Amino acid sequence: MSEIVNKKPVRHLLGLSGGKDSSALAIYLRDKVPEMEYFFSDTGAELPETLEFIDMLEDYLGKPIVRLNAGRDFDYYLKLNGNFLPTAQARWCTINLKIKPFEEYVGNDEAITYVGIRADETYRQGYLSKKKNISARYPFIEDGIAKDDVFEILKLSGIGVPKYYEWRSRSGCYFCFFQRKDEWVGLNERHPDLYKKAMSYEDFHKENGRDHTWSQGERLENLMKRSIEIKNNANVQKNAEASKPKKKLLDKFSDDDDNSSDDDSCLMCHL
Ligand code: SF4
Repeated sequence: MSEIVNKKPVRHLLGLSGGKDSSALAIYLRDKVPEMEYFFSDTGAELPETLEFIDMLEDYLGKPIVRLNAGRDFDYYLKLNGNFLPTAQARWCTINLKIKPFEEYVGNDEAITYVGIRADETYRQGYLSKKKNISARYPFIEDGIAKDDVFEILKLSGIGVPKYYEWRSRSGCYFCFFQRKDEWVGLNERHPDLYKKAMSYEDFHKENGRDHTWSQGERLENLMKRSIEIKNNANVQKNAEASKPKKKLLDKFSDDDDNSSDDDSCLMCHL
């Protein structure tokens, strides 16, 4: 008698960061991969605009976006990491809040994860699970979808880009150490409460004899005093960029500088 093996079907997974690329990928694949499972690793320190955008996307996709990390947020892991704030070199936040929850969610199931790296940024290195049961696909690279196409996908869906694109170039925690100084100024203007909260982490460190700062080489207390100077510098840089021969811009949001350091940042948070 032949043995009946009940093999679980391969799972298809797409992680949303609240950024434009992963969101556009979800929209792009909605009808192409109907069995797709969507998830979002909420760090507990997301921008309100991100959470609002994820809710809207959920309605558009017509499926639940599973929220990972319930009850274990940034502050939980901060304590576990001896109250040392994460840095680009010691990125415990990504490991604990993004990578581990994802791997736990997949378990030992065979799975394909769909990653939103675009055709114009094949230089980017992303997290790829080392687990043998998880493989990755890059539909934008496979189909030659570049940055302008991503904006077009978002625009045509009616969803558009997340509101934070008006002042910040990427998704992630409100205090993410990858953000530029002018984005910190933007945070202070749009969400002074969150800026103060970010300052309180630095204060805590100072009280404990450490000099860690979120933004390189400068406390947020000082950074906010230089707001005008920082904004002026950012404008000069933007104008210099704009005067270079450039690709077609779809709208003002595509004029961000998110090519500048994305390769250093984190695909799980900023895609
Ligand atoms: S967004 Fe930034 S601070 Fe938040 S988990 Fe990712 S790397 Fe860490």
